[in-house]
Amino acid sequence: GVRPGSVRTGTPRLTVVSGPSGVGKSSVLDELREQAPDVYFSVSVTTRAPRAGEVDGVHYHFVDRAEFERMVDAGEMLEYAHYAGNYYGTPRAPVERALAAGRPAVLEIELQGARQVRRSMPEAQLVMLLPPSWEDLVQRLTGRRTEGSEVLRQRLDTARAELAARSEFDATVVNADVQRAVDELVRLITGPTPG
Ligand code: 5GP
Repeated sequence: GVRPGSVRTGTPRLTVVSGPSGVGKSSVLDELREQAPDVYFSVSVTTRAPRAGEVDGVHYHFVDRAEFERMVDAGEMLEYAHYAGNYYGTPRAPVERALAAGRPAVLEIELQGARQVRRSMPEAQLVMLLPPSWEDLVQRLTGRRTEGSEVLRQRLDTARAELAARSEFDATVVNADVQRAVDELVRLITGPTPG
């Protein structure tokens, strides 16, 4: 749904994509990157350690706690949050540059960050990616097994809280089929097709 009053002005738009851990965000976003080359995808800064296959500067900028705090104190973050024991934040400058250059921008961030963006940039569009069902989400999280059971329990609690916040979002996209989810996201990010 489109909020009443959020008139399309032709200005490129900032879209926040959130969704609980295990919803398949990475698969959807990877596919979206390939299919929407004109869209700028923000690269977050995190204090978390890289996972296998993650490349510094591509998936995240991996920094230590001191550097993260320096960036926050210097006002370099558009938003940031503490999540599952680590800090995550969006560098402000690249997003502003992309929007100024006429490119739609996408932030893939968690709920606290989405709320900060809502406050600081009310024109931003908030989209939540949803699992086909809660059971599906639990299964995907349990099947992943990259973390211990305590972390898993924490992520399930966080996921429940994130899903409960769906009414704060402008639109929801169900990830039952990756390509269909990507198609819907492309429409939301790039705006309605003319005609
Ligand atoms: P992961 O550690 O699995 O890559 O990410 C954990 C969570 O942090 C995900 O929900 C992801 O969307 C979120 N996240 C990634 N980057 C940022 C960011 O820059 N800001 C915020 N607030 N959340 C982020």
